[in-house]
Amino acid sequence: DSDSRPLRVFFFPFMAHGHLIPMVDIARLFSSQGVHSTIITTPLNANYISKTTSLSIKTLPFQASKVGLPDGCENVDMLPSPDLIFKFFQAANLLQKPFENLLELEKPDCLISDIFFPWSVDSAGKFNIPRLVFHGTSFFAMCAMESLKTHKPYKSVSTDSEPFVIPNLPDEIKMTKSQFTVDAWEDTEKGVGKLLADARASGLRSFGVVVNSFYELEPAYADYYKNVLNMKAWCVGPVSVCYRNDEEKIARGKKSAIDDHECLKWLEGKQPDSVVYVCFGSGASFPDEQLRDIALGLEDSGVNFIWVIRRSSESGSEDYLPEGFEDRVEGSGLVIRGWAPQVLILDHPSVGGFVTHCGWNSALEGISAGLPMVTWPLFAEQFFNQKLITDVLKIGVEVGVQKWSRNGEDRVTKEKVEKAVRAVMVGEVAEERRGRARQLGKLAKNAAAKDGSSFIDLHNLLDELKLRRVPLS
Ligand code: UDP
Repeated sequence: DSDSRPLRVFFFPFMAHGHLIPMVDIARLFSSQGVHSTIITTPLNANYISKTTSLSIKTLPFQASKVGLPDGCENVDMLPSPDLIFKFFQAANLLQKPFENLLELEKPDCLISDIFFPWSVDSAGKFNIPRLVFHGTSFFAMCAMESLKTHKPYKSVSTDSEPFVIPNLPDEIKMTKSQFTVDAWEDTEKGVGKLLADARASGLRSFGVVVNSFYELEPAYADYYKNVLNMKAWCVGPVSVCYRNDEEKIARGKKSAIDDHECLKWLEGKQPDSVVYVCFGSGASFPDEQLRDIALGLEDSGVNFIWVIRRSSESGSEDYLPEGFEDRVEGSGLVIRGWAPQVLILDHPSVGGFVTHCGWNSALEGISAGLPMVTWPLFAEQFFNQKLITDVLKIGVEVGVQKWSRNGEDRVTKEKVEKAVRAVMVGEVAEERRGRARQLGKLAKNAAAKDGSSFIDLHNLLDELKLRRVPLS
């Protein structure tokens, strides 16, 4: 290839932190290998990103009020209620025209866009630009969802709680209907079902898929996805390990609701592997009763903890935690109300376990840090990720949630919280589990390092994109 121009790639993440953060990481990764990376987003999201990266950012106006959302509501985490997500998708669709104007002007060599912009495959097609899709989840979840859509095994059970096997997967994995939104999936004419159907169709028409995972983590599922489902995919993760020092980790994502260095100092004072980190991602929040059960469960476990709280009932009295809780746990427990510097915390040697909602980024960040997990899935594809963690990788303990819900409707008692936390943190079985998790953490870092499997796959992709590029005339 005599063409020595750097590749120019556009990255177009969906405006939710669980999509934005890994896409920015991928853009950084490409840039570190000589690609000219540009992130396309809306003004407010550009502000979040600009402290993480010096990459070029281009903004598109977001017309929130046009669809009846509050002005300036540019990220899913700003929605006044999770039910407004469809309005948010409507507003996201309005980005198509200005996005196409930008493509026409700049003609990048490739577009990597989010699964939730299904129309972007047509936008790229208009200018003969290859589009890669980013799902933001595991090979395992993609394979499992594809199997459910194709074989509909849930039709054979009569109740929501009766387990069925997900057909044809490399392992025997059981689920129940209550763990995903079957009704919504079935109706492809509207709502979630339509969105998923559109996303799937646009994925099939794309140049390929970029996956934030690493081959050694889920080899059977990576192979299944590529060879059985015939999808063209490149595996470039875990992308969060590109943050080399504390300051870079602090700058990732939103501004912390705690003094980052105080948090580090607190961790310094604890024994290795003695702290459990409890966080449910950027979107989930709990009613006050559930928060109280988490508080008491953590307290009763006797384990040190850092707990990130997001409350669904913003109104009401401020003393929603059990009386005297924060005094009693002073020294052994740290509460963060709002955004936590998650990767900074997970990577600290004092942290020895992670209570997670199984959002894929969190799950993979926990794996990369070599941590065993308590799995507490809530919505989206989190119940699938739970299965990977507990049944396939065997590095997790289920807290016992049975039902998909956006706001923690399936209440978990304090006894269950205490039991699961102790199971992951204390005892011989816990040590064995931690050993397996540590091993995966090493494999994760090796995969992303120079000449590791993800590094090689990234270069395979870049080589292919260079060949595909329109020659200089
Ligand atoms: N995150 C963080 N601090 C928080 C909450 C979340 O840094 O207080 C980051 C987390 O490290 C991850 C992302 O936000 O990279 C959340 O993505 P995930 O897929 O885990 O869950 P989602 O937010 O999409 O439900």
